[in-house]
Amino acid sequence: MNTPYPHLLAPLDLGFVRLRNRVLMGSMHTGLEDDPKKFTRLEAYFAERARGGVGLIVTGGFAPNIAGWAAPFSGRLTTRAAAARHRPITAAVHAEGGHIALQILHTGRYGYHPLAVAPSRLKSPISPFTPRALSARGIERQIRAFVRCASLAREAGYDGVEIMGSEGYFINQFIAAHTNRRTDGWGGSFENRIRLPLEIVARTRAAVGRDFILVYRLSMLDLVPEGSDWNEVVQLAQAIERAGATIINTGIGWHEARVPTIATSVPRAAFAWVTRKLKGQVGIPLCATNRINTPDVAEQILAGGDADMVSMARPLLADPDFVNKAAAGRADEINTCIACNQACLDHVFQRKIASCLVNPRAGHETELRYQPATKPRRFAVVGAGPAGLACATVLAGRGHQVDLFDSAAEIGGQFNLARRVPGKEEFGETLRYFRRRLQVTGVNVRLGVRADVPLLRDGGYDEVVLATGVTPRNPSIPGADEHRASGRVLGYAEVLLGRRECGPRVAVIGAGGIGFDVAEFLVSDRHSSALDLAAWQREWGVTDPAVARSGLAAPAVEPPARRVYLLQRKATPLGKGLGKTTGWIHRAALRMKRVEMMGGVNYETIDARGLLVSFGEARASPTLLEVDNVVLCAGQEPLCDLYEPLRHAGITVHKIGGAAVAAELDAKRAIDQGARLAARL
Ligand code: NAP
Ligand code: SF4
Repeated sequence: MNTPYPHLLAPLDLGFVRLRNRVLMGSMHTGLEDDPKKFTRLEAYFAERARGGVGLIVTGGFAPNIAGWAAPFSGRLTTRAAAARHRPITAAVHAEGGHIALQILHTGRYGYHPLAVAPSRLKSPISPFTPRALSARGIERQIRAFVRCASLAREAGYDGVEIMGSEGYFINQFIAAHTNRRTDGWGGSFENRIRLPLEIVARTRAAVGRDFILVYRLSMLDLVPEGSDWNEVVQLAQAIERAGATIINTGIGWHEARVPTIATSVPRAAFAWVTRKLKGQVGIPLCATNRINTPDVAEQILAGGDADMVSMARPLLADPDFVNKAAAGRADEINTCIACNQACLDHVFQRKIASCLVNPRAGHETELRYQPATKPRRFAVVGAGPAGLACATVLAGRGHQVDLFDSAAEIGGQFNLARRVPGKEEFGETLRYFRRRLQVTGVNVRLGVRADVPLLRDGGYDEVVLATGVTPRNPSIPGADEHRASGRVLGYAEVLLGRRECGPRVAVIGAGGIGFDVAEFLVSDRHSSALDLAAWQREWGVTDPAVARSGLAAPAVEPPARRVYLLQRKATPLGKGLGKTTGWIHRAALRMKRVEMMGGVNYETIDARGLLVSFGEARASPTLLEVDNVVLCAGQEPLCDLYEPLRHAGITVHKIGGAAVAAELDAKRAIDQGARLAARL
């Protein structure tokens, strides 16, 4: 095969069915599963990924019964009538030449509802509900529910099921002594604790027959106390194979684990070594997971013999054509998942429909369509940050003529700052994607040009889009302006761009996304453990489960490069507004680097000694922070001077991104606005 990805694109023969390549689209809850009225959207979402070449799609989790619900009324498959509603989904995937398995997810004590059940009556740290401990008859009912769900999946036209046995969900709760304190035949010894998954797999196999894919997701690295050790993982995997599984997929870390496993600061393919340890111990194919986001990384895993398949969930939200582009030698056109979680997992945890920051069409395939323009027109887009890039490329992709202006010498806007933060290198991939997309769609890019009213008025444009972004807010602290010239007071951009170096003691004013980023930048001194797996493992205390049960070791953190104070005026805990699923990682990372986080602060004055602060409305406890530098990260104001003059000149003009509203701006909103406007024009 003449391709850089021969292993990735090689078919996988499972005996009774042949998958067209080694890409498994990992299960990702979108919220569309929870309401049959949204199944048309789910159908379009999966069909687009099947058309894009994925080998085997695994759906988001469906509960086998009410006790297994993730939350009240979340998706479940319990009746033949419900199975019939899945038929269009499976038919649409098959029509595109793909295969699809339904994930059976019983959440056990992670269920966000009062009917949750578990092996023992132990509340999880991430749910307010204490589960009911199951009786032996209750366990039997759960097993039957799994088997019934799998049979119904077969009836619905699925090619298989994935039985979710990892991530700390119901089955995993039986396996680990951490959550299984039973003294009957389902608890105590490891043999007793793994009875549940073995019964489920064996009885499911008996019910569905030999020619049905049965993926078992096996927790290979629990990352919580009293999880499995490596011998137990091997023992379970071999027993699961004997019980009738077709493929073993890798599970890494429970949801309650205090180790990040999929965030952008986790190195790429950080856990492929875990799957590799199991190679040779079982005869069925093994699938590697977590932070595999490019075809090169995937190919490396397969070519190196770490696994037989690779699971990618979020990367296929980001680009449904991932596989086809890789196969066609167009890997540089892939819209890469940057592992930000902002529009996928964060949405799911807020009970919103999952989408993707870099691809707002994900989950919205039926309503956000980029149709060819009926009458091509000329547009000027001003500003080549995320909003302007999305708008310009969608407009041009639809056939419009687009000039894209930016006064800077490179595209990217705020993304050029973000990609310099250690652990956020992936943001550079979005710029690579847009750079290529500008070429492919034929946008006329005019960098280093400050577009003004005459240029836009006389350029012959039908309409103008302003994506001019934001300007940093000046917090007007006494003494700040006079110390700007000396370099004692700095803006965040000059720090992140490396134009100014900070001394050994720094105060960061403002603890929003950028304040946290700047603090991380300052304490790590440009060394990124996201690019150094061994350093990352030391930092977070991850080790070989053959050495320490669950793969947990004592973290060994490098000392901070600087002493940093991170400050805000609000009295609320710092970082409260950060991403729902990633905020804890940023807070933990700064705590590890001994960053002093202070809330309820008043900024009194800046002088040659440092920054004087006081606390609360009473301006109590004046404290001098003796620092060499003060970095301002106090939010943004919209930058949109051109709007009114252009309107007065009679030009049809639109505002998007930070230029429209700077408050709570993030790239998700910017890209979404840019793409949606461009789809309408
Ligand atoms: P932000 O999240 O709105 O935070 C602004 C911070 O400044 C707050 O901590 C606020 O806290 C403080 N502040 C506001 N007005 C102030 C004033 N007059 N004086 C002193 N302090 C003031 O804004 P951001 O950190 O600039 O982030 C903007 C957006 O970009 C975020 O939504 C984030 O998602 C995104 N982001 C961008 C990057 C990047 O590198 N470009 C990185 C991360 C996140 P108090 O009012 O309590 O003092
Ligand atoms: Fe990946 Fe972020 Fe998109 Fe989620 S929102 S799929 S993490 S790029």
